[in-house]
Amino acid sequence: MASAPQVAFFSPFGAAFGVDLGACLQRVVDSGWYVLGPQVREFETAFARYVGVRHAVGVANGTDALTLALRALGIQPGQRVLTVANAGCYSSTAMAQVGADPGWVDVDPARLTMAPEALAAALAEGRVAAVIVTHLYGQMADMPRLTALCQAAGVPLIEDCAQAHGAALHGRCAGAWGTLACFSFYPTKNLGALGDGGAVLTDDAALAERLRALRQYGWTRKYEVGLPGGGNSRLDELQAAVLLAKLPHLEAANAERRAIAAGYSAAFAGLPLDCPPPPGPDHAMHLYVVRTPHRAALQAHLAAHGVASDIHYPLADHRQPVRAAQPLPHLPVTEAACAEVLSLPCYPGLTAPQGARVIEVVRQFFAAA
Ligand SMILES: *Cc1c(COP(=O)(O)O)cnc(C)c1O
Repeated sequence: MASAPQVAFFSPFGAAFGVDLGACLQRVVDSGWYVLGPQVREFETAFARYVGVRHAVGVANGTDALTLALRALGIQPGQRVLTVANAGCYSSTAMAQVGADPGWVDVDPARLTMAPEALAAALAEGRVAAVIVTHLYGQMADMPRLTALCQAAGVPLIEDCAQAHGAALHGRCAGAWGTLACFSFYPTKNLGALGDGGAVLTDDAALAERLRALRQYGWTRKYEVGLPGGGNSRLDELQAAVLLAKLPHLEAANAERRAIAAGYSAAFAGLPLDCPPPPGPDHAMHLYVVRTPHRAALQAHLAAHGVASDIHYPLADHRQPVRAAQPLPHLPVTEAACAEVLSLPCYPGLTAPQGARVIEVVRQFFAAA
């Protein structure tokens, strides 16, 4: 009998989407241009068109994308910015970099994205300078309601699309709803580079111009610092070449993720396990996340049987050690989710035997319980 397959949490080979990455590297080496060149410009144009937005500005990573988006909006130290506390602390990190005063808003129990009622209550308190909405796990937030609330309040909305490349709600892509949208191209993301990368998208030409200055020292022309808050956050030619070659395969890769997820949810029906519903186009299935009060035992059982899993995320932003002395906000839905969420392997390149093994080991756990 063949031994049971081991299942890793991520496959760098599946993430290549079958693209010849060596050829991309050789092309960039031969071009003699390595940072912010023709590949970056071509990728920016292609990605903006794909998302359905006028401008894309390539930057060094997703956290910089969020930080530069806040700077482009002119957010000043002490100004209040709202976000969620269950999305890995990336938006809170960007807010800390600009000195913004973080306001955490609770999430909707079904999608685990920002709850419109909670946003309405937070906006009603006034003095909000911006809102960052994360499409968590690849699931798009309730954008019609969230954008309407921000528009009515006259507050800019930044989308964090770092887990949602290719998701679309009512035919409108993640990244085409907010004033600005931030993407990460970290290797494990739905669209990943061979290292770090990111982008900020916007329809606003003036914001795009500020972003182009901010990513390069605040230069409004070469060697002339015309904008405060600039730094070095450029995208490499190699990363842009890889992203450009992979972009045409993103839809197929997301379809593969959704098929794996649908298979899991069908197989887990009837188990005392809270599973995501079969994913539609508004879910890029970056992560397949179940919920159970028996998380630690299930994770240990999976590990003992060669199936990797992970927790996204175990510690809410407001509970991070760096904030130990601060008062705690009231976020009951966020707190409950942090204690129960568990991510199972779900990525392009996961084989049918590996998927079947994940299902078998999860079912075994509940059969024994
Ligand atoms: C990965 C991620 C980021 C940060 O991107 P980096 O490129 O790692 O800086 C931001 N937000 C979310 C939701 C992410 O998953």
